Parts: sequence; C-alpha cells; structure tokens
Amino acid sequence: YQGQVVVPQTDEVAPPPTGEDNKNEGTRLRFDMKPEELEAYLGKYVVYQEQAIEILATKICTHFNRMNFELDANDDEILGNIKSNVIMIGPTGVGKTYLIKLIANKLGVPFVKGDATKFSETGYVGGDVEELIRELVREAKGDIQLAEYGIVYLDEIDKIASSRGAHGPDVSRTGVQRNLLKLMEESEVELRPPHDLASQMEAVMEAQRSGKVERKKINTRNILFVVSGAFAGLPDIIQRRMNQKALGFQSDPQITRNTETENWLRYTKSEDLMEFGFESEFIGRLPVLAILNTLDEDALFRIVTNPKSSVVRSKKRDFLAYGIEIDFTEDALAFLAKQAFGEKTGARGLTTVFERALLKYEKKLPSTNIQKLTITREMVENPEAELKKVLMSVAVKTFQREFLERTGIVITFTPEARELAREQAKKNDRDFVAECRDIFSDYEYGLRLVKLSQFTVDADTIRTPKKKLEELIRLSYHSDAE
Ligand code: ADP
Repeated sequence: YQGQVVVPQTDEVAPPPTGEDNKNEGTRLRFDMKPEELEAYLGKYVVYQEQAIEILATKICTHFNRMNFELDANDDEILGNIKSNVIMIGPTGVGKTYLIKLIANKLGVPFVKGDATKFSETGYVGGDVEELIRELVREAKGDIQLAEYGIVYLDEIDKIASSRGAHGPDVSRTGVQRNLLKLMEESEVELRPPHDLASQMEAVMEAQRSGKVERKKINTRNILFVVSGAFAGLPDIIQRRMNQKALGFQSDPQITRNTETENWLRYTKSEDLMEFGFESEFIGRLPVLAILNTLDEDALFRIVTNPKSSVVRSKKRDFLAYGIEIDFTEDALAFLAKQAFGEKTGARGLTTVFERALLKYEKKLPSTNIQKLTITREMVENPEAELKKVLMSVAVKTFQREFLERTGIVITFTPEARELAREQAKKNDRDFVAECRDIFSDYEYGLRLVKLSQFTVDADTIRTPKKKLEELIRLSYHSDAE
C-alpha cells in the first residue's frame, strides 16, 4: 500500500510491564490533558495570576503531550529539540511553587524543589545539582521511568546570575549555569553518586547477590525544568534598554509613564536576562517566560475567601483537631488580608497573620467546652481582649445551663455584674463558674421559695448576695400577704 498503512511494531503495542522481571521498567504514562482543562483546574486554586496560568497550562501541557508521540518517534526527529523549560519571575509568596506543584499533582508526575543558592560549581560542597534528579527518583518511589517524566523546580535562580564585577564575570556562578544547562538539555545522571563510596559498594554487593545489574542511570531528556526568582534589578535593565531605544523616536507614553516594577517586567526579553548575568545558552534553554503579579490587598482577600484556600482550610483543621469548628466572617478575612499585605511577603503573609491572630484562641479554646466559633473582625483585631470576652460568655453560659437544670430558673447577668463576678473570681483564684456556684449557693433554694422563673443578677447581688436574697424573699412575702 505504498507506505500508507503503518503496522505498529510489536514492542510498541506490548502490554504494560508487569511482574518481577519487569520491575525496573517502571511506569510509562500517557498524557491526554488539554491546556484549557489544566488552566481551569489551576484557576480554581490560584488567584490573580491569569496570565501566568495561561502560559504555564498551555506550555506544560504541550510538553507532556508531546512526549507521548516523541517516545514513539525516532531519535533523529527529536535531536536538537528544545524543551518547554520555564522561567518564572515574581516576588515571594505569589504562587510560583504552588502552581507548579498543582500541575505536577494533576498530571501525576513527580516533583522536586531545590534552591539554586545551594549549588556550587563543584557540587558536593553546597549540594549537587544532580542530587535533585536523584531526588526525583526517590519521589517516584524508585520508579526511574516515572522520574523521567518529572518536574524539577529551582528557586532563587537569580542568585546564580554572574555579577560582572571589576574582575570580570563571576566564574563560579557561570559554572553552575553550565552544569545546569547540561542537565536541562539531556544528560544521564548516575543514581549512585560516584563520590558516595558506601552506595557504590552496596551496588556491587547487590549485583553479586541477585546476579542482576540494576539500571543505574536516569536520563534528563524529558524532565521539565522550571526556574524562578524575584530578579531584583531586572526592571531597571529593561527600563534602560527601552529608554535607550526610545531616544530619537517618539517614546511610548504608556511605557514611560508606568514606573511600576511589574509593568516593566512585562517587556522582559532574553537580552535583559543576559544583561542581568545569565549565559545566552542558559537563557536559550528556558523558552517559556511567565511573569507573576505582586498580590495586592484585594488579591489576598480573594485568596482567603476562595473555598479552596489552603490557608483557611489548614487553620480550620488546626481547630478541628480539638473538635472545634471555626469559621470566619467576611470582615475578619478582609482585616487579615489587609494585615497580610503589610507583611510584604505575598500570600505567605496570610499564614503569618492568621497564626498571630489565632494563637491565643488555639491555646485556650481546647480547654473549654466550645465546639463552634465564628471568628469576627474584633476577634482578630484585638485577640487578647476579645478572647477574654469569648471565655467569659462561655463561662456565663455554662453556669446558666447548670442553674437552669437544677432550679428551672433562667438566670441572667448585667454587664457590671459579670465584670464584678469575674474580678472576684480572680481575687479568689478560681474560675468564674466556681465563683458563681459559691455566690449563689443559697439561691437555688431561695429563688424556688419565691417562685421566680427568671432572675437578673445586678452588681449589688454580686456584692451582697445574702442581703439581696433576703430582700427578695421579704418582698415576695409582702406581695403574698397583700
Ligand atoms: P512562591 O511564589 O514564593 O513560590 P508559594 O507558591 O510557595 O510562593 O506560595 C505560598 C502559599 O501561598 C501557597 O502554598 C498558597 O497557599 C498561597 N498562595 C500564593 N499565591 C497564591 C495565589 N496567587 N492564589 C492562591 N494562593 C496563593
């Protein structure tokens, strides 16, 4: 049929490997997600980063889908192929790690995160770049093939830019870039590091015992690299370039008016990153650029009001661990978002302020019988004072319930009476309920005598309880006599 009909090779349609013999074959994934599906998924969790989400969802989806057919293609076709490695620029706490983690999760591929500042050119001292690749295998529970679909995320990449000082470019940082470059393209990483003697010996012994030589290398050809950093100083470089270009031409008023960092970053070009201190080959291996927005107060508010918000959910779980159900009023969340914005650490600031506002509650409430609590703005604005009020009202309710059960009488307190009883309890070094039991020890019987169904405690009652009760009884006899 003149090559019109293609008969699949037998090994292409072989059933997935099973059993002991194929243990080292690992998992071969087939991806069928569409960019829009991934975009919609990310949009449910991550707010205010629509543009970055669009770029990442599309390019990372394509990367994995392309793997499907490249695994079947011959090597010549994919030689020199550039992967969709990603560079993300944005300040701390705006969702960079979160996005990549969500993506790895959704696609079911292993993910590791490292910090570029830990790498030194020679490896071993500060931490080996290759060690991250080995970690991918550990993440994949030893499944090398699965690890070869993994995502390696490297933060603080801007710290390995070489600063061109008086002595020329910083050689060691350039060296780290070169090492990384090799991995980002394609290289084979030894699973047992050559400098790790113990692990080498173990391999030899294992081979002797089992008579089999385990696969020892992992290929980085399909591993997706995502690097990120805040890139302080980059906006200046871009601005300079654009202003220079504008000389002699009419400058774009929109650009020159916008002095905000982020707006400049939108115009990032490879040449700016090179000027920043990256080798052109390094930048060349990072074709996908995503700029992340700084989160403003409104964005932080949207994060905490998102039902999938991990900050709020995790805080709720902290309390649920003690059987206490908490929720927040919108006002409380708005106040916390505002405070978090002041921390200048993006969404990370949210965790900080939630902890700060709720720590005292988390300490105290488990010792009470509270099972449900709505956190209001007052409570997060002034935690200590409001917690006292909460505890007070719990104590009052406890005593009221107890009193009602024993006497059938509804007892209430005026605010002054509450305060007085609280002070008195403090003086006597006991809790509010114990104090009230003592103050009202004669009342259970006395109030039944006067046949009351409801009784309000005022300040005088607390000061002179006996006198007050006698008065009540006298009054009731008088009215009976009348
Ligand atoms: P970084 O940009 O420094 O990598 P992370 O992604 O680690 O920051 O953000 C820390 C946490 O803050 C995340 O786990 C997530 O809960 C929350 N977060 C950050 N940015 C966003 C966002 N844009 N939308 C929703 N949650 C976010």
